Amino acid sequence: MQKFFVETKQIKNEKITIIGEDVKHITSVLRMKVGEVIQIGNKETSENYIAKIAQIGEENVITNIIKKVEETSESNVQIDLYQGLPKADKMELIIQKTTEIGASKIIPVEMTRCVVKLEEKEAKKKTERWQKIALSAAEQSKRDKIPTIENKINLKQIIEKIKEYDCFLVAYEEEHQITLKQALQRLNKKQYYKIGILVGPEGGIDTKEIALLKENGVTIVTLGRRILRCETAPITMVSNILYELES
Ligand code: SAH
Repeated sequence: MQKFFVETKQIKNEKITIIGEDVKHITSVLRMKVGEVIQIGNKETSENYIAKIAQIGEENVITNIIKKVEETSESNVQIDLYQGLPKADKMELIIQKTTEIGASKIIPVEMTRCVVKLEEKEAKKKTERWQKIALSAAEQSKRDKIPTIENKINLKQIIEKIKEYDCFLVAYEEEHQITLKQALQRLNKKQYYKIGILVGPEGGIDTKEIALLKENGVTIVTLGRRILRCETAPITMVSNILYELES
């Protein structure tokens, strides 16, 4: 069943009004008709509804709520991905795939060995585009929450955030001791986890950056004996973390 996200103000008196780009998607792309049933999520509260299309107009699609969905598709593990800024198409792939698997937040990070620099004037547009990719991936995978794509930060700004997490894992290609699995198995059992992960860009993570991260209490892990591309590493990490911790 197709899923769409709306805001609280679009839900009123057992009806949900769909507006904006979704209208064209419903009418021209999906060619849906009155009577068809869709899933609608409130992006502010994560509440979910099953609704039937009652009226199709130029500007909006009006639906009648059939029922509220009680189950959630969200995980007990919150994973925030700090991603060393890669080339543009790779970032899009990372956002799409990690959203499907279950990441909560994606934060682009400027690192020493980044090949691309995100200039201020294009940064806002890029973030908006990435947020749209997260939205459609969330619809596609029927998430209840759309991951937030934050503005790019630098390594120093990550340091301030490390303490927010139960565990902050840095995937480092030169690490050969602690595996991701070992690091996760060391965690105290909890009902909910908040995990931060950092993956380097194409050029990898600089030794000075690793030293600074270590001083600030992160856990450095290896993802195995083979070197993964910077887009494969976060996808692998998010899925393995959920495999180990999701209940
Ligand atoms: N250019 C580097 C590889 C960078 S891979 C080299 O040739 O060595 C990009 C990022 O993916 C790395 O910085 C790291 O965060 C992650 N990564 C890839 N393979 C990994 C592995 N086997 N163990 C830990 N991290 C890995």
